[in-house]
Amino acid sequence: MLELFKQTVAYKILTGDKNRGELSHAYALVCDDEVALRYFVPIVAKIILCEDQSCCDVCRHCRLIDKRSHSDVSFYPKNVGGKILTEDISEVLSQTHIKPIESDKRVFAFVNTSTMNTAAQNKLLKTLEEPPKGVFLVLGVENENILLSTVKSRVKKLEIPPFSAEQLKVGLKDNCPDKSKLESAITLADGKIGKVLEYYGDDKTWQTENLVYNLLEQMKSSREVSSFACKIDKDNIKEVLICLKRVFSEIVRGETLGFKNAKVEQLSKIYKCASAIAIIEKINLLERALFFNGNVNMITDNLLLCILEEKYRWQKL
Ligand SMILES: [Zn+2]
Repeated sequence: MLELFKQTVAYKILTGDKNRGELSHAYALVCDDEVALRYFVPIVAKIILCEDQSCCDVCRHCRLIDKRSHSDVSFYPKNVGGKILTEDISEVLSQTHIKPIESDKRVFAFVNTSTMNTAAQNKLLKTLEEPPKGVFLVLGVENENILLSTVKSRVKKLEIPPFSAEQLKVGLKDNCPDKSKLESAITLADGKIGKVLEYYGDDKTWQTENLVYNLLEQMKSSREVSSFACKIDKDNIKEVLICLKRVFSEIVRGETLGFKNAKVEQLSKIYKCASAIAIIEKINLLERALFFNGNVNMITDNLLLCILEEKYRWQKL
């Protein structure tokens, strides 16, 4: 994860601040990916405390922060997925005046400030206005608009935009060793680390995607429709339709903006842009039919035949 973080402007700003001896007393790490915040907020804490110029991952501070046992670093919420409570902020306020033990800095890291209500933010304001010496606050936030304007104006913003497919492929190869599975997860993930990990670990999504790619690559005649149709039922048809729509939308987008995924690029040679648009329209109709309790078998046959028809219609031209 550190490698991914190192590729962001946020990292450059932060390490630049550190090396000039001008660390801000409060940073808002803005990233529309809750899971990424769980990884990145501790990295920011490490950069603030590390003996090295950025984040070495081996010094005492880095190791203790990784284990969440650094006595000068507190993380909130206290439980993963929990909320940051006003009691937590009371604790922060009472601790800001206590001298650090391991270092000369005290870091309060709020992994997801989106869970902090207005009362808690107001309570934190005093520390933001007059931070005691050596006290640093890191506020991870999915959407900066949830921050009170009074809070926003007192923190330095570090923005993490979505990552490119290439960045994710390199950055997550250790977390996700199955290369083709990782690539597939990346196609679905809109540049978000959390989504990649979710899809990578989610077998059902993986199976659906595999089925979709197989049928798009291998289904060549109406005789083969039934062998693929039997793999689609009421339990997965919704996901199949969503996945197909995503693949065809990527084909359309890829034609003008370039392809992010090699598999989709391969498919774009078989399915022209016009076919993709027609199939997306058909899927929209079938989704509506499904919503109104249409027969799953009929919808599936209809879908697969449409895909075949569109594939060959434009290839002939
Ligand atoms: Zn270190």
